[in-house]
Amino acid sequence: MLVRELMFLQLFRPGAAACVGDLFLPPPKIEPSRLYFFIWNIFDKGKMKLPGLIDPHVHLREPGAAHKEDWDTGTAAALAGGFTAVLTMPNTNPPIINAQSLAIAEQAASSKARCDYAHYLGAGPHNSHELAELAPRAAGLKMYLDNTYGPLRLDDMSLWMEHFARWPRGMPIVAHAESRTMAGGILLSALFDRPVHIAHVSLREEILLIRLAKEKGIKVTCEVAPHHLFLSTDDLPALGAGRGEVRPRLASPVDREALWANLEVIDCFATDHAPHTLEEKDSFNPPPGFPGLETALPLLLTAVSGGRLSLDDLVARMHINPRRIFSLPEQPETWVEVDPLAEWEIRAENMHTRCAWTPFDGWKVRGQVQRVVLRGREVYRLGENTDRGEIRASPGSGRNLRDIS
Ligand SMILES: [Zn+2]
Repeated sequence: MLVRELMFLQLFRPGAAACVGDLFLPPPKIEPSRLYFFIWNIFDKGKMKLPGLIDPHVHLREPGAAHKEDWDTGTAAALAGGFTAVLTMPNTNPPIINAQSLAIAEQAASSKARCDYAHYLGAGPHNSHELAELAPRAAGLKMYLDNTYGPLRLDDMSLWMEHFARWPRGMPIVAHAESRTMAGGILLSALFDRPVHIAHVSLREEILLIRLAKEKGIKVTCEVAPHHLFLSTDDLPALGAGRGEVRPRLASPVDREALWANLEVIDCFATDHAPHTLEEKDSFNPPPGFPGLETALPLLLTAVSGGRLSLDDLVARMHINPRRIFSLPEQPETWVEVDPLAEWEIRAENMHTRCAWTPFDGWKVRGQVQRVVLRGREVYRLGENTDRGEIRASPGSGRNLRDIS
């Protein structure tokens, strides 16, 4: 056995350092050769390189709500979390539903983004023709088939059909569709024989239905958000009513465990980074959503450390699968340097997101981003003796992925 494999097995031995609550009980099924495959390097002192991570589901709030987040702070948070590419959702103000609103978002991104990106277009009742023409400039089509933050919900299934019929076959469709609505979205995928990606799966019934659909050959893929893997309704009393508001809602511990038990059905881990200020979250009418860009990788590395997840499980869901599902270009000379042994505490004051809070505040995690390199340039570096890193990418240095491909 290679010395480096021995080092790796030592780093990620079964049962090592379960740091996050009691989530990591089952012994892992570790296959050293597969685990090793996706590690580019192990440096001195156990540091390792991962490919640049891709988050296919973030809300950067600009245009319209830059007090929560904008393209500058949101992409800074992405880099600090190890993400070198983000796909941004269209429920902004104005929503991204036509050429004019897309141009507004493109302008904000091109002047401020510090990591690479692409914009989703929002399916509305009267825009299926126009969106089909704009498709080459978009990350994909986002269809809100259930309630969300903003006005983009499509209730009438005939509208779903129009978009499925007109949207170019080679471009991704992402559906916010929960429970039985999700079954309708999967049916359309089958009827139109084209891929659909289900956003933020949270329930046992949903992941089981997606498993069956995949077994039948239906072209469905899905993502799960870290907060649905690490939090449940059991956490609501500690979080408080407003800070616990998220869509889909935090589910039961049984649902959460069903996601872990069906890991092979999950194609992507997507943060659904959805920042709101603490003042808003603690108000009488708290909007749903959690920030997630800066906590996803540490939480998932902690799961790797605890043996609940393998490193290649992580890389497949945070780099390889999103690149394939969304037909994203390579980012040359791009990587994330991680110390998988670093034990530290998530603190909101060390984060770069403008919303200045996290539902994981105070959680002890194992695994920390040390440095991020994007297209050969250092864009993030962790400071000495601090858990707050320095963003070294300038605003506007991020590129639109659809201009590259
Ligand atoms: Zn979302």
